Amino acid sequence: MTPPMEYIEDYTLAGLSRWLAAEGEKPFRAKQIFQWLYRHMARDFEEMTSVSRAMRAKLAGRFRLGGLERAAVLHSEDGSVKYRFRLPDGNEIETVLMPGASHNTLCVSTQVGCAMGCDFCMTARMGLVRNLTAGEIVQQVVQAARDLPDRAFIRNVVFMGMGEPLHNYDNVVRSIETLSEDNGFGFSGRRLTVSTSGLVPAIRRFIREGVHANLAVSLNAVTDEVRTALMPVNRRWNLEALLAACREFPAESRIRLTFEYVLLGGVNDSLADARRLVKLLHGIKCKVNLIPYNPPPGLPYRPPDLERVRAFQRKLLDHGLLATVRLSRGQDIQAACGQLIAGETAPRGRFARPTRGPIGSAAPVDTVAGG
Ligand code: SF4
Repeated sequence: MTPPMEYIEDYTLAGLSRWLAAEGEKPFRAKQIFQWLYRHMARDFEEMTSVSRAMRAKLAGRFRLGGLERAAVLHSEDGSVKYRFRLPDGNEIETVLMPGASHNTLCVSTQVGCAMGCDFCMTARMGLVRNLTAGEIVQQVVQAARDLPDRAFIRNVVFMGMGEPLHNYDNVVRSIETLSEDNGFGFSGRRLTVSTSGLVPAIRRFIREGVHANLAVSLNAVTDEVRTALMPVNRRWNLEALLAACREFPAESRIRLTFEYVLLGGVNDSLADARRLVKLLHGIKCKVNLIPYNPPPGLPYRPPDLERVRAFQRKLLDHGLLATVRLSRGQDIQAACGQLIAGETAPRGRFARPTRGPIGSAAPVDTVAGG
């Protein structure tokens, strides 16, 4: 049986240069090809007119260019756009574009489904179907950029959609390398944010390898009891182990460490919780994003009272912690934090139809998303 073709987008610039060299071609051609892929966002090798016809034929014989089919594009009343992409194997993923006052943020998926089993997340109900390849992650950015007047309109990319990014470490890091490449999108590390539910060895590896992207840790609780109930990963790596790893994050770097804290009414939103959070984060240079949760129907949670959210935030600010409140975006199209669709339980709205399943994403008041 013929193996499925690799995406050319799976290759970093260095990888493509190596492939060209092995083929007896000039490695510098990789830069040209990258420019066609990510500056001109070519849809076909034939568009690469500065590349010889023979080379184009060779590329077409060896690689697939693109492969994400738009299954649906949903527009929210708040301006968010949710893309549902069908992959060549029939699986579906989702990507959310969130417009801000001055810039857009794109929330990308890194896996089909997720193995982490967080209790408040609908993606968790799917389990892990498979990892996305680096090319499938990068293509989400290309697809969204094609709809904008200028690809630079995507200012931030957050790896906070479907999946646990650090569970697909190699492909996520490869996609970061491609997105950062000057001959392509040229994102600085400050504009890329990788989210994790708390895979401690992968966090350590991320820090050790100096991956040039912000790290966002989904904390969501201040005691092991509550965190384990919400996030089974806490059984393996508890708060102490997680925060010890976070303390290794380089304080002087230009990239940033953020803690995401989804506020669930009556579960983790008290002032006592806020006080404990201050203690836990003592000495860690970080920012805290508070995300009032809007539970989808069927989950045993309720949104926090907004007064409590503000009081929680005030407590953190009073103790010198940088804390923002992030409002969920795209709720009417099930693109907001935790508002996921899963199989037959998918709500049927204006656009919705039964689907394989999406995303936990939310946007901060000013910028980013969170899964
Ligand atoms: S919240 Fe994130 S890590 Fe947890 S199950 Fe959902 S997608 Fe996975």
